[in-house]
Parts: sequence; structure tokens; C-alpha cells
Amino acid sequence: MTRLHSLDQTFVIVGASLAGAKAAETLRAEGFDGRVVMIGAEAERPYERPPLSKDYLRGEVGREKVYVHDEAFYAANEIELRLGRTAVNVDLSINEVALDDGKRLRYDRLLLATGAEPRRLSVAGEALDAVLYLRSVGDSDALRERLDRGGSVVVIGAGWIGAEVAASARQCGLDVTVIDPAEVPLRRVLGSEVGAIYRDLHTDHGVRMLMGTGVASLEGSTDVERVRTSDGRTIDCDLVVVGVGVRPRAQLAAQAGLYVDDGVLVDEYLQTSMPGVFAAGDVAMTHYPFYGRRIRVEHWANALDQGPVAGRNMLGRSEAYDRLPYFFSDQYDVGMEYAGLAPTWDRVVFRGDPASREFIAFWLVQDRVVAGMNVGVWDVTDQIQRLIRERVAVDVRRLADPDVELGDLALATEAGAA
Ligand SMILES: Cc1cc2nc3c(=O)[nH]c(=O)nc-3n(C[C@H](O)[C@H](O)[C@H](O)COP(=O)(O)OP(=O)(O)OC[C@H]3O[C@@H](n4cnc5c(N)ncnc54)[C@H](O)[C@@H]3O)c2cc1C
Repeated sequence: MTRLHSLDQTFVIVGASLAGAKAAETLRAEGFDGRVVMIGAEAERPYERPPLSKDYLRGEVGREKVYVHDEAFYAANEIELRLGRTAVNVDLSINEVALDDGKRLRYDRLLLATGAEPRRLSVAGEALDAVLYLRSVGDSDALRERLDRGGSVVVIGAGWIGAEVAASARQCGLDVTVIDPAEVPLRRVLGSEVGAIYRDLHTDHGVRMLMGTGVASLEGSTDVERVRTSDGRTIDCDLVVVGVGVRPRAQLAAQAGLYVDDGVLVDEYLQTSMPGVFAAGDVAMTHYPFYGRRIRVEHWANALDQGPVAGRNMLGRSEAYDRLPYFFSDQYDVGMEYAGLAPTWDRVVFRGDPASREFIAFWLVQDRVVAGMNVGVWDVTDQIQRLIRERVAVDVRRLADPDVELGDLALATEAGAA
């Protein structure tokens, strides 16, 4: 292993959020004693976004809860934070990053952790006031201020952000309508059967779920006042929250000439098409040896875990990132974790009663588990991931039987098959 310990070296991290902060922390933990500079477009030191649609949005926890590190951490570890500064250009031929204040920084290693940004809604009225998006802590504060006024909110998009905002708004006592062209929320990832469980969860909490219809226009004079759906309905509202997905912030990488597709293309070592330049977190489209292809994961755990791997590989290690995709979501009092990847499947098997909201769902392809989601059931992620990694056909009856230990299942199946 080649390790770089040199006061002459400068490692630059563009993007001061979770992936970037974990990379910087790792560089110091590994003993790197050169210069570490983080450039962050936001004015805040690195923070975590999951609370922004949950307890932070509802005002149940304060700012301190969201930060990745306390304020003293950066000075104590000699990590230079350039906040409120945007990297506007990377010149790969001379290893230089240009900032929006005209300053230039030479780097020996570069990490792009520029994350993702909300997709905009392209309908008439999108620019009206009180049409909000949610990505930053400032967005969450602005939304909270609106929620505090009460009234009615229309959430456009029933993906994870939309579903969590709908739940939080409802918990804050607002009248909530969710609109999405899919027939159930979260359909893209969970499919119709499991998505229906979330539809029922929201309906049970009094959310109006307008599924199977899009948005034709937003109307109002200054603030948005109503939403017109593509099937001709109008919904009066005081506020609209748009959650129609994110796109990777890969422009800087693309302009530099790095290979970019749906994100910055990196190998399993998180290295881009230019040696010495890495990418991690939401912006990275990573080669997963387990799947034999590149995947871009837009979830917290991916940023948390890729940051340190990128940091170590900046120091010359060759550590492959080989974790399975994993994410969590909390809506009302229902928490869940999802592991794996199921772009397609041929059946879903439940362990436990979905109606009780304490169950595990497994997505199967030819009797092999490709993804699993535990809802209200905890400490099973490792076993679910093992089932996915082992890629053995399971006995579906035993998979569905809560009395069979999950940990024994794959081995038992192998033994049974032998
Ligand atoms: C409201 C909300 C709730 C979420 N809830 C969950 C959840 O429950 N579970 C889950 O698994 N995931 C959740 N996520 C997703 C998770 O937060 C992201 O996967 C994670 O934030 C990705 O971290 P990142 O460091 O890769 O990028 P980001 O967090 O997007 O940060 C990138 C940073 O780079 C900065 N930047 C971009 N370009 C430049 C530039 N040129 N110069 C300088 N700085 C730049 C940006 O301003 C930003 O601060 C949620 C996200 C949001 C928004």
C-alpha cells in the first residue's frame, strides 16, 4: 500500500456534505498530514439531510441534530472549510480547481462529492410563490415556516421525499393531498403490491392520495392557490411541495471532461476516468462488482460509506466499494429499511402480516432474494443482505415463515438442496 503523508500535498474535496465530510474525517484518521480543503456551496458546515423531511422539519429537533461533526472538529483536524463557495471549473491538465471568487486551488488528489439536486417541475405556474422544493436545511426551514401557518398542502410526487413530507405535514396538522401519476406511492422501487401498503398508511392518516394522475398546471396570483390535475380536477391549497426526484450535480465533472452518464462514472475504487480524481455519494455512478454494472445510489448510507472508501483510495489504497444499496425511511410511526436492488422481480414474499405494519417483504427473481424491506422489524438487515449476496434459491414457504430464523435460511436451503 502506498500511503501519502506529505505536508506538500493538497487534497481538495468539492461538496461539503456527508460524503465529503466522511472522506475528510477519514483522511485525518488515516494519518494524512497534508492540506485538506473542502469547498461547499452552502453556507452551512456539512450536515445530514434525512432529518430535513422528518423530525427537523416538524420542529422536534434543532439544528445541532443535523450536523455531521461539531463545529470544533474542522479546526481541530485542520480541515479547511471554504463555505459559501462554489467550484466553477476543474482543469485536469494542471490539477486545478477554480472557485467562484476567482481563487484557484492546486490539488494532488480531488474528490467530487457534489451530490444531487431536485428535478424541477415543468408545468405552468411552477415559479409561483409557495411552490417549494426540499434539499437543503434552508429549504426545510422555509417549508417549516409555511407548515406552521397551517392550511392545506399539495405534495407533488409520491417518492420518498414526497411521502415523508406528506407524513410530516399531516403530523403538523395540515390538510394534505398527494398527487402522482403512478397508481401507488413509491411504485418505482417497491412495486404495486408493497406501494399499496404505503398508500393505505397515508390514507389511514387522513391524506388524500390522488394516484394515477399528473399535474397540468399550478395556478394563483402571487402564491400558488390551486393545482389542476391532468385528469381535470382542481385542488385548492396554500402551499405546494414538489418531490419529483433528483438529478446528479455532475456538470462540473462533465465540463472537466470526466466520463459522465447519469452521474460521474467511477470504478469500484470510486476513481473517475482520470487517475487521482474520485467521486462519491449521490453524484457517483459506481461500478458494483456484485451487480457487474454501474449504479447510482441516492441514499444516506451510500454517502456515509463511500466517503471513507474514497478517502482511503485517495491515499493510495485500492479498496473496492462493495456494499449493497441500503436506505431507510420513517413515515408517521412506521420505520423501514430496504436493502438490495430490484429493478425487476417475479414475485414478492411477505414474512408477517403487511396489515400489521410489522413485516418483511422480499423481492425474488427465480426464487432468489434480490431485495428485502423490513418494516417495524429490526436487526435483520445483515441477514437480508446475506440472503441477497448468497444468491441461492430459497424455499419460499420457509422464507415466509417467521418461525424460521432468517440467518439459517440460506444455509438450510443449500443443505436441503444438497
Ligand atoms: C429531505 C431529504 C431527506 C432524505 N431522507 C433520507 C432517508 O430517510 N434515507 C436515506 O437513505 N436517504 C435520505 N436522503 C438522501 C441523502 O440525504 C443523500 O443521499 C445524501 O445527502 C447524499 O450526500 P452527498 O454528500 O453525496 O451529497 P449532498 O448531500 O447532495 O451534498 C452535496 C453538497 O455539494 C455541494 N456542491 C455541489 N456542487 C458544488 C460545487 N460546484 N462547489 C461547491 N459545492 C458544491 C452542494 O451544495 C451540497 O452541499 C434524504 C435527502 C433529502 C434531501
